Amino acid sequence: MNLGKTERSESSSPLSNIRPLEKIDRSSLRDQVLTSIRNAIITGKLKASDKISEVELSEQLGVSRTPVREAIRTLELHGFIEVHPKNGTYIASFDSEELQDGLHVRVALEELALKQALQRMNLSEWQRHCDHLERLIQSMFAAADELDPVSDIELDMEFHTLMMDAAQNRILSRSWKLSGASNFIWSLEHVLYPHTKNELSEHANRHVSLLEVLRGRKLEACLDALRHHILRKINDIQILGAEPDPQKTLHEKNSA
Ligand SMILES: [Zn+2]
Repeated sequence: MNLGKTERSESSSPLSNIRPLEKIDRSSLRDQVLTSIRNAIITGKLKASDKISEVELSEQLGVSRTPVREAIRTLELHGFIEVHPKNGTYIASFDSEELQDGLHVRVALEELALKQALQRMNLSEWQRHCDHLERLIQSMFAAADELDPVSDIELDMEFHTLMMDAAQNRILSRSWKLSGASNFIWSLEHVLYPHTKNELSEHANRHVSLLEVLRGRKLEACLDALRHHILRKINDIQILGAEPDPQKTLHEKNSA
């Protein structure tokens, strides 16, 4: 007996009478999950060595486990998260030596980028590049006014990624992104520098000083300013390393 299955043609489906529905963009869901976990690391809600669970994160974020798993994989590639197959997943922690090693890798990549950018950009291109950097610094000051550490760090990364891309060296830009060299210190940033208006403005000011030298276009001076900009963190990490309570901020230590 025919129960009507064959009479029901494709065209009877209500979906066939309307425009195709917009596809759910899975990659954007993964990116949102990634940003959410990353922001929790930046703001210190998730701290170095904290254990995280895929199930808990997917419940908290109200998404399935697949985008969470994908985001964790990307964050692991970038060095934010460590996955120990039999033990669990943790926010990455670094000892003082590893942090210093990472900062030296950053300096090496950024120095190469700066040298090539200065060789490859003519004067007007360099000025336009510096103007672009200046606009990012203005946004950093706005982020400081709004006490928005997440935007501040995003702008800092954008600033350094722009310097990297100015080299017009695709392999270098890829190495920068894949190594996560610009990101790995995030889990410590809020411990090193408190999220106060003063500290965030100071952070923007340090980029003003760097940009002033960059505008001069003198290679050695530019390289010195860049090294100083990145490696000053080593000094701050060493001061913090002597601090018995790692959650006590450098600011608290200095003002103690
Ligand atoms: Zn910077």
